[in-house]
Amino acid sequence: MIRPVFRFAPSPNGLLHLGHALSALMNFELARKAGGRLLLRIEDIDRTRCLPEYEAAIYQDLAWLGIEWEEPARRQSEHFDDYRAALEGLEREGLVYPAFESRGEIVRLVAAREGPGRKPWPTDPDGAPLYPGTARELAPDERARRCASEPYALRLDLQKVLARIGRPLSWNESGEAEPRAIEAMPGRWGDVILGRKETPTSYHLAVVIDDALQGVTHVVRGRDLYEATAVHRLLQELLALPAPVYHHHRLVLDEAGRKLAKSSESTALRALRESGAMPADIRRLVGLI
Ligand code: GLU
Repeated sequence: MIRPVFRFAPSPNGLLHLGHALSALMNFELARKAGGRLLLRIEDIDRTRCLPEYEAAIYQDLAWLGIEWEEPARRQSEHFDDYRAALEGLEREGLVYPAFESRGEIVRLVAAREGPGRKPWPTDPDGAPLYPGTARELAPDERARRCASEPYALRLDLQKVLARIGRPLSWNESGEAEPRAIEAMPGRWGDVILGRKETPTSYHLAVVIDDALQGVTHVVRGRDLYEATAVHRLLQELLALPAPVYHHHRLVLDEAGRKLAKSSESTALRALRESGAMPADIRRLVGLI
């Protein structure tokens, strides 16, 4: 029998909070119930915000909660070659293109297109303005000239990719009352970044490559990543990778009903532990008992 494979995939850019505890505990318990394996993946592609002390805190906090995972954890920063190889393949096929604009420049470009009497510029599901496609339209010699002298990101040419795939995509969601197929709508994200200026990958690319390389069959993660699954399905299709089953769970909210942030001290697992909380208290706080 092939054992189901689950994974918990935190980023070491802050201390884990109650939301991470819910995710990690759900992965652990679902894996155990299914007779499956639990992997831990350290998503540390952001080399400026991810710190070794946060990674050490992840191991401590998870062990304290009583979670057991298979060693060793996969650290994404050690696998840039895997992501680079996938990007090079997409470049060869003309499915990604270099883009030079910063976030601030995109906001300015979009503001210039909005003007009085025009429709508001569309935003992606996270609320960021959709990339206006300016660098996609550059003439080849202009593009080559700029690539030689400026850092650039690689963006997915969404229309080309949708045309290549040529059929609607869906994913299997088991995080709702009834498991069902959800229609993926990657068009809502526009030309997403697959390679960052400073790193040969982005969250979207690294997550689908790693889930496939690690044989992950069940992705259990917060509802905040529900919409991103559309991009993940598109990339899986494009790179001929298998699609896991997805289970997006409820988020743990603060008293004001907002999603927890890593910067908030009061919900950090370490702070709760230091103020005397026990693992059973954490389970209660996240609504597992
Ligand atoms: N690294 C992501 C985070 O910490 C989670 C990625 C995932 O589960 O797909 O939010």
